[in-house]
Amino acid sequence: MSRLTDMLWTRLTGMMPGELDRSEFVWLVSPHTHFQLLTRRRATMIVNRVRILALLFGVLTPLWTIIDYVVFPQLLWLQLVALRVSASIAFFAIVVGYRPAGRMGDAYRAIGLLFAVPTVFYVASHQMLAGMQLSGLSSAIATGYAFLPFVLLAGLSIFPLTLLESLMVASPILCAHLLSGYLNWPTLEWPSFAGAFWLMTLITGVSALAGISQLAFMIALVRQAIRDPLTGAFSRRSGEEILDLQFALAERNNRPFSIAFVDLDHFKSVNDNFGHEAGDQILREAASRLASLLRRSDTLVRWGGEEFILILQDTRSDCADHFLERLRAQGFGLRPDDAPVTASIGVAERMLDRSRNWQQLLELADRRMYHAKSNGRDRIIGCTFPPESLSQVSQVCTQAG
Ligand code: GH3
Ligand code: MG
Ligand code: MG
Repeated sequence: MSRLTDMLWTRLTGMMPGELDRSEFVWLVSPHTHFQLLTRRRATMIVNRVRILALLFGVLTPLWTIIDYVVFPQLLWLQLVALRVSASIAFFAIVVGYRPAGRMGDAYRAIGLLFAVPTVFYVASHQMLAGMQLSGLSSAIATGYAFLPFVLLAGLSIFPLTLLESLMVASPILCAHLLSGYLNWPTLEWPSFAGAFWLMTLITGVSALAGISQLAFMIALVRQAIRDPLTGAFSRRSGEEILDLQFALAERNNRPFSIAFVDLDHFKSVNDNFGHEAGDQILREAASRLASLLRRSDTLVRWGGEEFILILQDTRSDCADHFLERLRAQGFGLRPDDAPVTASIGVAERMLDRSRNWQQLLELADRRMYHAKSNGRDRIIGCTFPPESLSQVSQVCTQAG
């Protein structure tokens, strides 16, 4: 039995997007555990795509008045023109009104609005056309109006949405269809009603799959783009984004926030004496040791060649900091000649150092790191003293090694 379930599981996961790790599959289902940088990039992409679609609809919607003019009586045509112009204005308002700010809340609202405009248009045009006795070509064009819900559901496929999100967006349209069937119960044409609902369900399924595939590629691309390939730490650019996000969060919640600037000592001599590959190996080892000490909420960034920064959320960084103690005890690995790899570390904390932005905080941590260098390297300089006294008093927190 377990062999059968194993086999089924292997077959099933074999069908999943190959560019993802197993642990990442859950991100395709629901957005709740997405990491911040993915959320930010996804929100930006969704808002931009909403704006592109809104622009397309904004241009195309009034163009159809030409066809309406040919086939409908003048009064109905005028009503439809007013409706189309209003819809077009609403679409352009979405194009102009939304700017990507990296927040999923904005992205959901933008999709909601994009779908709300044609829905209102559909309901209103339905009312106008329902009262008319149309025949021939005009009746055929009027039927065309009924395709709008299908277009909306198909439009879902251009967004990198999770399964849950696709279902959430599609369900109002599916429910509206069911509701219209319920309201027209006595005169309902069952075969066409059921056929339309089935088609809508199929289109929703295909759109959801398209959205999930896009999301899978996006996760893989974001993962590659934000990591430094040598050490697996976050790259400098993504580090800056994380600092931006987390500093603002700490400020809003009035929480402590620390940065540790770590620079390996005499690293160039490893390259010079043992070769670049040995240097690379030391960088990998140092990064993995640093990473092993981090909590889930902390971040390791490779800031430059042999420079790392640790972003420590919710951490008051004083000399007794637990994390730095453990770092000291663990060390950074060994050089090829078995001498310990050492580092100079500068630490700064948002509240103690009264920093107004992360750039200021980082600069302070960097200055303290240089201070650690000039004080003999292999040490940590913390922030339990005001920055202005830094030039006079070099308070060495702890001696590594
Ligand atoms: P200090 O103690 O003052 O920090 O001296 P240092 O030798 O560590 O610092 P320095 O800035 O003089 O040298 C850093 C070296 O790091 C120079 C550069 O060649 C090397 N480096 C930068 N990136 C890499 C990398 O990806 N791999 C390897 N192997 N070396 C790198
Ligand atoms: Mg350096
Ligand atoms: Mg160095």
